[in-house]
Amino acid sequence: MLEKKQKYSIFSIIKNSFSYHQNWQKAWRNPEPKKNYDVIIVGAGGHGLASAFYLASIHGIKNIAVIEKGWLGGGNTGRNTTIIRSNYLWDESATIYEYSLKLWENLSNELNFNVMFSQRGVLTIAHSEHELKEMSRRVHAIRLNGIDSEILNPEQIKKFVPIIDVDQNLRYPVMGGFLQKRGGTARHDAVAWGYARAADSYGVDIIQNCELYEIIHKNNKITGVVTSKGKINTKKLGVVVAGHSSVVADKVGIKLPIQSRPLQALVSEPIKPILDTVIMSNAVHMYISQSDKGEMVLGAGVDKYNSYGQKGSFPVTQHMIASAVELFPILSRLRMLRHWGGIVDTCPDASPIISKTEIEGLYFNCGWGTGGFKATPGSGHVFADLIAKDKPNSISKPFSIERFEKGKLIDEHGAAGVAH
Ligand SMILES: Cc1cc2nc3c(=O)[nH]c(=O)nc-3n(C[C@H](O)[C@H](O)[C@H](O)COP(=O)(O)OP(=O)(O)OC[C@H]3O[C@@H](n4cnc5c(N)ncnc54)[C@H](O)[C@@H]3O)c2cc1C
Repeated sequence: MLEKKQKYSIFSIIKNSFSYHQNWQKAWRNPEPKKNYDVIIVGAGGHGLASAFYLASIHGIKNIAVIEKGWLGGGNTGRNTTIIRSNYLWDESATIYEYSLKLWENLSNELNFNVMFSQRGVLTIAHSEHELKEMSRRVHAIRLNGIDSEILNPEQIKKFVPIIDVDQNLRYPVMGGFLQKRGGTARHDAVAWGYARAADSYGVDIIQNCELYEIIHKNNKITGVVTSKGKINTKKLGVVVAGHSSVVADKVGIKLPIQSRPLQALVSEPIKPILDTVIMSNAVHMYISQSDKGEMVLGAGVDKYNSYGQKGSFPVTQHMIASAVELFPILSRLRMLRHWGGIVDTCPDASPIISKTEIEGLYFNCGWGTGGFKATPGSGHVFADLIAKDKPNSISKPFSIERFEKGKLIDEHGAAGVAH
């Protein structure tokens, strides 16, 4: 529940529309930084905003700032293709993603903001006998963790996705697939806005256009930060900057095992509803869904080279479109409307880092790579817990940075094949 409810009556909506919304209550304030905060979160993406919200709403810490170098939600949170699922292979991953999925199921209610969470299902298609066998092994492992997952045969797939061609003589015949019915999509901007509004209602200062320049620490303890808006004191600093995590860690001499690469997405012109689920194909190497506006949303894998340019290279764009047409020839005359990229932060085992560091009061939440949107509520929950108690809980513990020293990797490279 929000502490301060924002209510609009029908009369106030009409009144405000005539006054061009001049007196419309802002969804969040635009404060200048104070001198001191109990906790500063760097990065106003979904994970950073969720962390601040749960620190305030669950742990009762009210003197919090979220500093953001651009605008809130302008990083990967506002750039992703919004696929949500929890059907991961390893127990550690299944636990955190399922924890998150359960939070998604009540998120609009909790934030009093419609995040348009739609459990339309996520279906991964197999195009060879080998892929199908590999899938059934995965489905058994997923079900052992109590997560819904089922194998569909080509006839069931045709019924579920009428526009798909299940002719077995195609170059990539549809031989079966596995479905998570509780998976789906949510509106990414709304997730950032909902968390921002809810955090602000608890008094969290969200400070946009405020870049972190330096991290100040004394006797191995965090004492503050230097930002584009001046120096701010704090004893606890949570860094949640996705693709820029290694850049920020480098400021205090910490080397994170992260590669930052562009990941691209495309949307087409809006068309009438043709697809009401999410389709992934690892062999054809693409995934596709239809947004509520009618646009076809397409994506594929990461660019081959590390970069901080948020656009990506042309061959990857070309490959995405070719793959979409391979799977759905009816899309061949569709015009593409927009194309963009984000910088994803990938660990060697394709699992995230949620961790304390060797500097007291400095915490990192990163390495979500190509698939962190789905984890937004769960990641915020466990990161807030870590910062508040200075101790990982059973969900976040396996994702501590020490796993790279101890060799306790959580290898999720096969989690999707096409990125998510
Ligand atoms: C094209 C694309 C498609 C994707 N599709 C999916 C998908 O379908 N499903 C899924 O689960 N995941 C997907 N992802 C991954 C997902 O978007 C991310 O894992 C997730 O959004 C990360 O959220 P975040 O809050 O950690 O990062 P971000 O939203 O990137 O937020 C980090 C913020 O930190 C800020 N920042 C950086 N440096 C500084 C600094 N020095 N000072 C202050 N602020 C700073 C940035 O400006 C940014 O706003 C996709 C990603 C991309 C790019």
